[in-house]
Amino acid sequence: METRPMICSRCTASVACVWLVAALGAAFCEGIVAAEPPAAWPTVLMIDDFESGLDKWTNDDAGRLQLADGPEDAGKVLRWTAGDDGIGHIIFKHLDRATVDFSQYDLLRFRVKVSGKPLWNLDPKIQQRPHTYGYLAQYGSVDTLEGMDVWIDYVQDLRRWENAWPHTYDAEAQSFSFDVHQLAGAGHTVVELDDIQLVKNTLGVERSYRGVWSREADGAQVTRFAIDVTNRADQPQTVRCDVVARTLNQFTYAVSGQPLTLQPGEQGVLKVAVTCPAKVAASCPAFYGETPLLRIRVDETPGLALVAELPTGTKPRKLTHPVVLCTPQRQTQLRRQWHDPEQRKTMGRWFVSAVNGADTQLAYLPSYPPIGHAGIDQCPADDTKLVKIDVPNLPMNRYQCPKCGAAYSGLFFDAAFENWVGKHRANAEAIGSLGIAYGITGDRKYAEKAAAILRPYIEMYLTMSIAAPQAGSPVFSATSGSTRIHGSYMHERRWLSDLAVGLDFIREANVLSDDELTQLTEKVLAPSANNMMDHKVGVMNLQGMIASTSLYAGLAAEDPQLVARAMYDSHGILNLAHWGYLPDGNWWENPSYQNVSHGVMFPALTTALHAGIIQFDDRWNNVFKAAYRLYGPDGRSPTLGTGGPGNLGYSDNVIHSLAWMLDDPQLAWVAHHRKLWYPYDSGLWARFFDSEPKLAKEDARPIFTDQTLDFPHYGGIAMRADAGKMYCYLAYGRHLVHGHYNKLSINAYGKGGWFVRNVMGGYGDHFREFLEPTSGSSTIMVDGRSQDADTGELLFSKSTPLGELASAREIGAYKDLEHERTCVLLPDALVVIDRSVSDASHTCDWLHHTDKMTGLAFAAGPVDKREIESLGDTVCYPVFLPATELTLDGPTALVRYARANKSGAAVVFATLDEDAAQLIRARNGTTLIARKHGDTVRFACVMQPLAVDEKPTATIEPVALVDAKTGRAVGLDRAQAYRVSTPAGARLVMVNYTDQPVRSATASAVTATERVTLVETK
Ligand SMILES: [Zn+2]
Repeated sequence: METRPMICSRCTASVACVWLVAALGAAFCEGIVAAEPPAAWPTVLMIDDFESGLDKWTNDDAGRLQLADGPEDAGKVLRWTAGDDGIGHIIFKHLDRATVDFSQYDLLRFRVKVSGKPLWNLDPKIQQRPHTYGYLAQYGSVDTLEGMDVWIDYVQDLRRWENAWPHTYDAEAQSFSFDVHQLAGAGHTVVELDDIQLVKNTLGVERSYRGVWSREADGAQVTRFAIDVTNRADQPQTVRCDVVARTLNQFTYAVSGQPLTLQPGEQGVLKVAVTCPAKVAASCPAFYGETPLLRIRVDETPGLALVAELPTGTKPRKLTHPVVLCTPQRQTQLRRQWHDPEQRKTMGRWFVSAVNGADTQLAYLPSYPPIGHAGIDQCPADDTKLVKIDVPNLPMNRYQCPKCGAAYSGLFFDAAFENWVGKHRANAEAIGSLGIAYGITGDRKYAEKAAAILRPYIEMYLTMSIAAPQAGSPVFSATSGSTRIHGSYMHERRWLSDLAVGLDFIREANVLSDDELTQLTEKVLAPSANNMMDHKVGVMNLQGMIASTSLYAGLAAEDPQLVARAMYDSHGILNLAHWGYLPDGNWWENPSYQNVSHGVMFPALTTALHAGIIQFDDRWNNVFKAAYRLYGPDGRSPTLGTGGPGNLGYSDNVIHSLAWMLDDPQLAWVAHHRKLWYPYDSGLWARFFDSEPKLAKEDARPIFTDQTLDFPHYGGIAMRADAGKMYCYLAYGRHLVHGHYNKLSINAYGKGGWFVRNVMGGYGDHFREFLEPTSGSSTIMVDGRSQDADTGELLFSKSTPLGELASAREIGAYKDLEHERTCVLLPDALVVIDRSVSDASHTCDWLHHTDKMTGLAFAAGPVDKREIESLGDTVCYPVFLPATELTLDGPTALVRYARANKSGAAVVFATLDEDAAQLIRARNGTTLIARKHGDTVRFACVMQPLAVDEKPTATIEPVALVDAKTGRAVGLDRAQAYRVSTPAGARLVMVNYTDQPVRSATASAVTATERVTLVETK
């Protein structure tokens, strides 16, 4: 075979890696003579400084482990170089609690340098009971946001893991490893590690501190920190601190009162002042800030270094509210419209109903339950829904399991049964909606009511427990997603945004005293935002949620530290945008998360631009246009991951929000021609920031394209035919951050509807398969397993008068097999030709899905009811089984799909007599599976979308090929060809896998030299 893949030899699915690492950890422990743990664990325990080689580490990956020279004075370091694009594993071999006991320590510290290709993150993973209560904990925390090609001293708080899956609990299992999640695409990531050590936090240093901001007489702005440290060790400690130089740019710092000598148990204060010099303050953008990293050392323990973030920012001389969701000018205009009966009629129904809604909130009675978590309503033993029981005179509620009889009491149960989280959400919604009504009307009754609901949080917010969701942490501990409201960042950010919007509007009503405003900042807004910002999840939609809400809270509170941290921190909005938007303008997560990200990032950008915090930058034009170039004719995205298809609403909304400043003719076209939508924050923001486009309608240029466009950085090609009315998105392999195993999958649209899509995020029962197996993709699944997290490449694409051509292959999706998919998009049909090549026999399942959005279901037809064999024993949605099998008979096999309106689609298979095939209609009523066994197999079909009452007419049949020079027959190792007939005409499609010309064995004079050839035929 000429096109042997770059074979990767890695575990078969990243889902399995969790188990593999755990199993290795356990296996290596056998045969090791147990040592006695030390009587006292040292403050700093060096796990490895690599001076004695790499013998403690292994690498079950195609990547390479090497001993390398570190920077000066560092000696040797571990260097891991990726062998391919997949997930790497750097595994500590003999984890033994007698020598390394994670539960004795607070921090994991190591020096790390990432070079070559960026990575999503580097995940330390640890399991060793009682550490993280015996669960396998993943710290998805080290990313490249702090820079590439530079040694970083990384300190991981061991209490803050990202995931500890409930089913990973094990009293015995022990493991320690680093997972390397590279970006897909060209290049190789190199990770270097050194001085991996465990550290006791002998001073009780926190992740970040809040300082006190002030403006000095000379115009400098200073943030003064008083950092409480307590000597938790049993000997005296002499404490010194300094700032990591690379974390300050234009600001300066000074430390006073050091060294600080503390006796055991003694408390002391480190004083640090960070200054924005007057000159910088005069010239920097509004609310500019820097977040120095403070490094704290102890003379008596040379290896000890504790770090803390000190977010600092500047504040403009004057800030006029509202600023979060509205400008003062717009507010004036709205009030004028509201108070003039004639203008009120034209101001937009939304604003009138917003005020009407707030009127009902005037009678709202808030309540403040002691915890804001969603609670537990199921029996912890058997997941049965609990029932409240009546016990006379018992001073607490009692809930019983109808299955096992066990009874429970407690706050978490009360929280669920009394919907406590709903009460806190309702409070926030009322504050937001009353604030908006005050903004529109200027009527103080709304501001007073909003303030009345807000006020009790000053005393009660910090009394609420910080709880994580059950899914992310089985023990409700202070880990990823741990918040006071609803147990996830996604929810607390919603709550905090509502508070910020409400507070921002009502500030000028003076219904809250200066002291109340200060206390709201210090006891509610700042702790909420900082708790979320203390957690770094990398360049993800979730980090955008955290940063955006923190920006709003900071502006509402006029707090320079919050605004600066939200904008300028390593994980702030500007750096997220810098890393997260690809050169082709798309957000580097899959389209579903692209939508979530746009939903929260675009409004934050809108606020920041209107507030003068940032200036518009031309690269945003590219970002705003990306979805219009990528999405289908109906404005919906292809499904390439969890969460379902989004739409262009997010992009439409931000363009409406910024129309007055946009110079781009295509963006102006959107502002003139597209309406507002209401997804996430973006619809609300667009209501308030909607503006007259800068360019007149006649200067605008349509944004929608009828062209086929490749997205090399996003890893897909959007093919368009019939003036853009026919569409096919071929995902050719880039795994994407937060992507899924859908290489060479297709999403296609024609005749006014989608006719093939990935199903991916099935949620419900399917949510168990959250890692989104290949079985949910319209591609080929091999041996019932998911594809590996590798990449792929577009081998060929061409636009011709007859149709659009593309051919792509995966790279390393399966270990010893190469799949190439060819798509030919005709004006009225899509031809899909697959070839899978291997030296060993496999079961190949060709999958075709139609999700809910297509509206398609199998049309009635002859059904041969037979039990079919298993689709493999892993990673397959159970709803596929059992199913019905269709008999392949005659030259083609036709499967008909119908919609309620009598439109539909047909999938017509070429029956290829050289190989036996099964055709299976899955029980879910939409999934079609064509199955073949063999080392080299092919599939070919034509998919014909059907208009209302249109009958399927497409046909497809194989065509024999010969070598163009010798005239000898050519096999599947070199080429394949089909005659396809649709209403548009008869066509010959030839796929040539080599550079040797082939031609049809019959009369045709057409020679195929290119990868894909499309010609008219008789
Ligand atoms: Zn029970």
